[in-house]
Amino acid sequence: EDAKKENTTEPEPAKPAEVIKGSLKKHEFQAETRKLLDIVANSLYSEKEVFVREVISNASDALEKLRYLQATNAETYAGSKGQPLQIRIDLDEAANTFTVQDTGVGMTEAELIKNLGTIAHSGSKTFVAESSKSGVSKDNIIGQFGVGFYSTFMVGKTVTVYSRSAAENAKGYVWISDGSGAYELAEADNVAIGTKIVVQLKAEEAKYASKTVIEDIIRKYSNFVGFSIFLNNELV
Ligand code: ADP
Ligand code: MG
Repeated sequence: EDAKKENTTEPEPAKPAEVIKGSLKKHEFQAETRKLLDIVANSLYSEKEVFVREVISNASDALEKLRYLQATNAETYAGSKGQPLQIRIDLDEAANTFTVQDTGVGMTEAELIKNLGTIAHSGSKTFVAESSKSGVSKDNIIGQFGVGFYSTFMVGKTVTVYSRSAAENAKGYVWISDGSGAYELAEADNVAIGTKIVVQLKAEEAKYASKTVIEDIIRKYSNFVGFSIFLNNELV
């Protein structure tokens, strides 16, 4: 509760929409990532709602990281100093989208390529190794290991990530993928410091654009997040 009080109770006002600059460049996912995404996107795993927990946990990590860097590396991170550290989730039932945005550390172009295009962390590596063994239920392993950011592809037809590093003079980028073999990347204007993820939901996963559904999931999993979470502009 004390940590929450350090943050604002008011959401930041909406900003102008991002604009893609130049042309999108296609990048192939690393082979292991492709394997993982294929399993995740086609999985019959029933607890798809865990994607909400995963994106909130990543947002919270990014905010923690920025707070740390502002304290230890003040010069490089001066630009974002004083900006509220918060998470917002915006749902649009008409457009069938789930959007999560944080004012955290953000990612540079190189970080987007590395962090969202390759699987470095051991959990996912073990996951891919386990899943190639015969007789192992893939749905079980999703539950056991968790698949982090890639869990958005359980519910998303396409996932668009806008990110701008909080480091001085960093440019904004857009990363777009449908979870198959490749993703596209380009520079973009009007990208706020931090990260914004727009999940274009599959038709059959439309419930994740519903406020009551998402509010319940946030309460179930994310009670201990130390930053304010706004759902459709209301503090949860
Ligand atoms: P993990 O959180 O276990 O590292 P994830 O698949 O959830 O694995 O995320 C992969 C990486 O992508 C993170 O380690 C982080 O570097 C980056 N990332 C994901 N979401 C965000 C975000 N909201 N802000 C900044 N970086 C992020
Ligand atoms: Mg994570």
